[in-house]
Formats: sequence, structure tokens, C-alpha cells
Amino acid sequence: MTTEVDFYELLECERTADDATIKASYRKLAMKYHPDRNAGCKDSEGRFKAISEAYDCLKDPQKRAAYDRFGHAAFKNGGPGGGRSGAQDFGGFSDIFENIFGEFMGGERGGGGRSGPRRGADLRYDMEITLEEAFTGRSSEVTVDVSAVCDTCEGSGAKRGTSAKTCTTCAGHGKVRAQQGFFVVERTCPSCHGAGRVISDPCPACHGEGRVEQTKTLTVNVPPGVDEGTRIRLTGEGEAGLRGAPAGDLYIFLHVARHAVFEREGTTLLARAPVSFATAALGGEFSITGPDGETHVLKIPAGTQHGRELRQRGAGMPVLQGRGRGDLVVRVEVETPTKLSARQRELLEELRTLDAGADASHVGGFFQKVKGAWG
Ligand SMILES: [Zn+2]
Ligand SMILES: [Zn+2]
Repeated sequence: MTTEVDFYELLECERTADDATIKASYRKLAMKYHPDRNAGCKDSEGRFKAISEAYDCLKDPQKRAAYDRFGHAAFKNGGPGGGRSGAQDFGGFSDIFENIFGEFMGGERGGGGRSGPRRGADLRYDMEITLEEAFTGRSSEVTVDVSAVCDTCEGSGAKRGTSAKTCTTCAGHGKVRAQQGFFVVERTCPSCHGAGRVISDPCPACHGEGRVEQTKTLTVNVPPGVDEGTRIRLTGEGEAGLRGAPAGDLYIFLHVARHAVFEREGTTLLARAPVSFATAALGGEFSITGPDGETHVLKIPAGTQHGRELRQRGAGMPVLQGRGRGDLVVRVEVETPTKLSARQRELLEELRTLDAGADASHVGGFFQKVKGAWG
């Protein structure tokens, strides 16, 4: 209860705002300043507490009325006009006190009232790899700027040879009680800000934070079979916590670069197989080198049509953290020649003459069928 900023101002609302408006504004601000989103930021933490406090008052019609009438004095020693008259002026005043302090000072409440050391933030690192690397897996070094436990003080925040001492103001409780008018008010200890310990000789390397900014090089083992969007978690490699609190995690987000030949659907590798129409008609082979570095030879059966898919089982991508491999699927694309030699032209002309006869009988058969259907 140290803030003096107007509750309406804190919630960015007019004094005439209705409950729904106040609630909506509170939610928006609470999201923005929530400690989980602003780890280690004292400003946000204070702001979050202040807006929670403001909302807890204004959401309650009785408390809001008291606040509108007396302002912060409604919740302070003596009340308006000094002394005990405030309490007498306003019916149910002691209720207000109890409700408010009961709620606020209960300590751990939805993360808002958290005090003491907090776990460090998680970090994200984006890494691009090739399809070949996704196939074989690789060990890779990443360099991240991250706050790490201070080596000088080993995270305690206290100068070497000294140590944090139990806070004398609160005797290590992190909270202090004070008699205010009729009431005993409990609040976060102003000396240690709730930590229960104070550092009289802060470590010069980290200014008492227990952590320092550092550039770390880490080895990441990318297992075979990873795909676009696969995340690898490096436990404890995120931001260090404050004063010895556990560190967050580092997440490596993998991106697999587009490949000139292959597309991928899960463990299936897809490729195109351009073949001449002579090969498509007569049959043959198509060979392709996979991301495994092996050459796969696929049989093209005689009479293969454009768009036919040929499948080679077990020649696709490895199953991530599993056994076996997916399939290689090759889609046949029959290519029509565009530049013909004289000899090719001659042969094709001859083929067309032969085809014409076949077409004629084919067409004839078609008309026979039509006739039959109507006849
Ligand atoms: Zn230090
Ligand atoms: Zn204290």
C-alpha cells in the first residue's frame, strides 16, 4: 500500500467509467505488466501490483464508493479528517480494511504478489539447417547472449567473502506489520522488498543481481529426422534466475531450408522425375540421389502415364526419435521434346502415321459405342 497514484489513473479509466470498462482496462493492463511476461523487471512488477490493488478496490462498489469519497485516505491510517472520525463517518469501514488487506497481503496470489527469487526467463533461438542436415542430424554450436549466474559471487549477489544477511527490518519474513490507527497492517518489507535478506556489500561484478550478461556458446545436438518447427529444449540454459533462483530454458526452433529437389511431407520425400516419352512408353529407370547421399534407382514400367507416382519404401526421411524411414515418392513428368533432330523428326512422323491408323480404329470404336447406346 505504498502507491499514491490515483486508482482511476492507474487503470486508465474515467472516474465515471462503468464496471465493465474498468474490468476490461484492468485485464488489458494486467496482461501487459504480468510478472511472467516481464521477468525480473521491477518496474513492471510494481506496476502490476499497483493496478491489481486499484482494481481490487474499484471492482467492489462499496470500496469504490469509499475511495471516491475519501481517496487513498479511505485506506490509510486515520481516514479523512484525521483520527478516528473517518471510521465513524463511514459505516463498515473496518470491513473494508480487513477485506482489502486480507486479499492483498495474503502473499502468493495468482503470481501477482510473488516475492523472493524467481526462475529466469525462457529464451528462443532460431536455427536454419539443410534437408541433408535434418536427415543425418548434426551437432551445432550456437552463441547466445544470456544472463548467467555471476561467477564472482556464485549467484548470491553478495561481495566475495561476505554474504547476504537476514533483513533486520522484517527478521527475514519479507513482510512487516505496522499499527495504523486501529489496525495492524502487513505489507512487503521496504528494506528487502520481500526477499527476507539484504546484501550490504553487493558483488561489484553483478551489482548484487547475482547474474551477469554473458555470451555463451552451447553445443546443440540436432537429432536425425527433425522437421520445420521442431523445438529442442536445453534445460537450464535460458536466463539465470535472480539471486540463485533456477534458470529458464533455451528453446532451439528449427527451420529446414527449402531443397532444390525434394519436398517433404512428414517422413515422405517427394521429387519430380522428368522422363522422355520414349522412356515412359518403353519403360526404363530413373535414378535420384537422396539427402542420405545414396543413389536410388526407380523402375519406370512400360506405358507409364504423366503424373504417375513411383514409390520406394524406406528411402524417405528418418523417423524422429524412432526407427525406420518414410518413403521416397517420385512423380513422373513426361517431357515433350522441343528441339528435334532430322532423324528424330523422321521417326516421329513415322510414328504419327502408325498412330493415325490406331487412332482411326479407336475413334471408330468410340462412334460404334455411341451408336449402340442410342440404338
Ligand atoms: Zn556477483
Ligand atoms: Zn525485510
